[in-house]
Amino acid sequence: MTSLESLPVAVVGAGPVGLAAAAHLIQRGMSVKVYEAGATVGANVRDWGHVRLFSPWEYNTDTAARALLQSHGWQEPSGKAMPTGSDLYDAYLKPLAATPEMAAVIETGVQVKAITRLGADKVLSKGRETKPFVLAVSNGSGMIRRDLARAVIDASGTWTAPNPLGAGGILAEGEAENAGSIAYGIPDVLGRDRPAYEGKTILVVGAGHSAANVLLDLARLAERSPETSIIWTTRGENLMRVYGGGRADQLPARGELGSSLKALVDSGRIALVSGFSATRVTAIGNQVMLEGETAGGIRELGPIDRIVVSTGQRPDLNLTRELRLDLDPWLESAKALGPLIDPNLHSCGSVPPHGHRELAHPEPGFYTVGIKSYGRAPTFLMLTGYEQVRSVVAAIAGDLAGADDVHLVLPETGVCSTNIVPNAGPSLECCGGPAPSQSDACCVADAEAKAEGKSGCGCSPSDVELIQPAGKVAEPAGCC
Ligand SMILES: Cc1cc2nc3c(=O)[nH]c(=O)nc-3n(C[C@H](O)[C@H](O)[C@H](O)COP(=O)(O)OP(=O)(O)OC[C@H]3O[C@@H](n4cnc5c(N)ncnc54)[C@H](O)[C@@H]3O)c2cc1C
Repeated sequence: MTSLESLPVAVVGAGPVGLAAAAHLIQRGMSVKVYEAGATVGANVRDWGHVRLFSPWEYNTDTAARALLQSHGWQEPSGKAMPTGSDLYDAYLKPLAATPEMAAVIETGVQVKAITRLGADKVLSKGRETKPFVLAVSNGSGMIRRDLARAVIDASGTWTAPNPLGAGGILAEGEAENAGSIAYGIPDVLGRDRPAYEGKTILVVGAGHSAANVLLDLARLAERSPETSIIWTTRGENLMRVYGGGRADQLPARGELGSSLKALVDSGRIALVSGFSATRVTAIGNQVMLEGETAGGIRELGPIDRIVVSTGQRPDLNLTRELRLDLDPWLESAKALGPLIDPNLHSCGSVPPHGHRELAHPEPGFYTVGIKSYGRAPTFLMLTGYEQVRSVVAAIAGDLAGADDVHLVLPETGVCSTNIVPNAGPSLECCGGPAPSQSDACCVADAEAKAEGKSGCGCSPSDVELIQPAGKVAEPAGCC
């Protein structure tokens, strides 16, 4: 039988994190094969290529990938500049994939349909760790070939599995029937997709950065075409996560995204309907009505020309159906990460450094990395993925000391509410980031106000209810 060590490590997906995994494997002189479903690497990133990242270049590239690129004379883009998704592809992912070392191991236009172990379904325990992985690979011709691998790194992302409009996680009534009036993700409303949005009534659903991006672009469109009208619905009432930490966000562009959105809502240019759980879409002529549950009963919104569903994505678990995975029950993330990234518990964007141990599954040799490792949680940063794959590759190579030496400092969001966690410590409850040490303030903005001789401004954005750990509602104070 083929020995495991003679087989390549399979990397599923050539996004930023899959390519970084391949670069680390190449750096260690290990055999690797990368499978990419798209026509080019970075297919998902290219799909949202018109969106500007909120992290600057210095946070967007991986160490091993940089070393490989630099060995071929690559000029690193300026650290503080913020690329769009298209820039990330053009200036980093594309040249990385074109290096001779990477080009030799990447196959595009092939989709991994399923992964198992040779001759062993999920139930069989005996000797399964000695059996190679089998990947069922489709190149779209109808033929499925089977490739063997010693280990598998699943970096296939979540972008192509959007959450539905239905607030219950399944399609809303009429969602499929009215698919022609609904877009998912982040349509390019100022460019490619403009004709479908200009001068129309658009309803955007969701309370994350994707929704914020669409809403800001629609507001720009409305400046040029004032007939464009924008409605925004969110399931929750607390918009702190999307409004963000403003000046206290260590990624200023991310902070600005939230502040700009809040200003548009405050000025009435975006009509916000919060606490709205979409349940049904019905057609009226060329338009649709959207029905939802609210605290006050059923409410109907419309008529609407187009609905944009920006409610996040979920991992495709069919791919790994025959593998033994241990997932967080509701986030479908790697289990150890669940409590750290659960949006029910806190809105902090960052997680402690983690690596192969947190990402391992009961299936030896299989790891989920990148944004897919976060499952349905919305707060993944590329930098996290780069440290994940450095650690995972070291573990596969048998370098446990290197694998365990995880280190990562992530930029803080400046928002760290724990409004659902009872008895959380006071330093966790600040809007605007934890207060500087030696200060009696509750957050950065409060500390700054006090330093200017003012009485301080509290810790809650003016229209966001922030419940203190003891269950007391904080005074809205208008800072942050
Ligand atoms: C709009 C947007 C903006 C973001 N901005 C930032 C930011 O500013 N900073 C930041 O750090 N992070 C940001 N993120 C989060 C995250 O870093 C990115 O989503 C990043 O692209 C994740 O990289 P990935 O490699 O894990 O997954 P992806 O980039 O999604 O790559 C997955 C790849 O796998 C391929 N694939 C999927 N299924 C298969 C299969 N079955 N077989 C073969 N190939 C497959 C896909 O075609 C794709 O190329 C942003 C995300 C979005 C959506």
